[in-house]
Amino acid sequence: MKNTYRNSITQVGTLSSKYKLDSPSVKDSKLLRQKYILKAISLLAMACTIPLGLLALSKGQNPLSFILLSVGLLSVLNYFLTLKNKISYALASAIAIYPIVLLMLYLVAYGGVNNTGALWIYALPAVVLFLHGFKKGLMILSIFLLGMVMILFVADTIFLHAVYTFDYKIRLILVFILDSALTAAYEYSTENLFGKMKLLTEELATIAEEDQLTQLRNRRGVHHEMERVYEQTKRDDTHMSLIMCDIDYFKDVNDRYGHDAGDQVLIEVANVIKNTIRKTDIAARWGGEEFLVVLPKTNEKEAYLVAEKIRKNILDILVEHEKYQIKVSLSAGVADNKYTSSIEGLIKLADSYMYEAKTRGRNLTCPKMLY
Ligand code: GH3
Ligand code: MG
Ligand code: MG
Repeated sequence: MKNTYRNSITQVGTLSSKYKLDSPSVKDSKLLRQKYILKAISLLAMACTIPLGLLALSKGQNPLSFILLSVGLLSVLNYFLTLKNKISYALASAIAIYPIVLLMLYLVAYGGVNNTGALWIYALPAVVLFLHGFKKGLMILSIFLLGMVMILFVADTIFLHAVYTFDYKIRLILVFILDSALTAAYEYSTENLFGKMKLLTEELATIAEEDQLTQLRNRRGVHHEMERVYEQTKRDDTHMSLIMCDIDYFKDVNDRYGHDAGDQVLIEVANVIKNTIRKTDIAARWGGEEFLVVLPKTNEKEAYLVAEKIRKNILDILVEHEKYQIKVSLSAGVADNKYTSSIEGLIKLADSYMYEAKTRGRNLTCPKMLY
């Protein structure tokens, strides 16, 4: 029997490190994706603007070369600041977008090289929507569109320096709207998918940490909680205790009344434990017919009293299944963190005291104290 308990302890480490459902890669996957895109866009922006800026400089196109090189240098700076996590994503994406938006408006107004400068605007919807998301992205694109309409049609006598035909202007704008709409649809569906993925991940995380039969936390779930409580206990320099409970002669219950009756006993024992402990304590199904209770800010004396209360409350219940009325008892082991230096050590201690309660005749809490 001792070996069975030992095995159950050694599995803890494996379980907690194997599944990382709440790791940042799942929680913040949207932000991570945006950061990747931000870095890619900064790299692309510098790869395009610096050579073109130098070319414009060599041709003596002064305002154009100045603007292109400024955007290029800003992109270099932004890339390294993002890489080193020196600035927030909101600031970095603003630095990436607004100079590009201004550069595009400049290109529309001045035409760039042989009036081809305006064609760069078709890269804008993807850049803006991927970096700022659907809502804010559409807002920025609408403002840009408005600016473009102003330059091309409303205040063209002031701002427009390039010469475009009327048809060219109309097509420039219509294709831009089409490009924006298609990219926005793509971004919208991606955001939707992220939302659904997030919900699903949360649901899976709950399922992965809950015991279906008793609705208590399972071993994986309680291990997470124990880690949290343990860290808090160390920080506050206080106590925490564990109660390890095991139903006595449970195999006989199954053999005599059937497996369904055994399940019913497990559900009712779990309910008694849940109703006996405080809201801040954590109950879990540790294994087959073993339950673990984590008691934050509780020393062994107090934990012993709780374990005894659970043990006595279990003795008081009669589990009804079909025509049977079933009585069970518990053996419990209590351990205080002051005797150990790790969670594994604390579980082992509670487990060994529970084993001691078994060898001393069952229906007992160990270590037995005289209060
Ligand atoms: P002890 O007093 O020494 O603890 O004896 P025991 O019979 O309770 O212990 P043992 O380890 O021999 O048997 C545990 C039994 O628990 C065996 C297994 O079939 C049963 N069991 C484990 N999980 C479940 C479950 O989910 N439902 C039911 N009905 N039985 C279960
Ligand atoms: Mg048992
Ligand atoms: Mg057992």
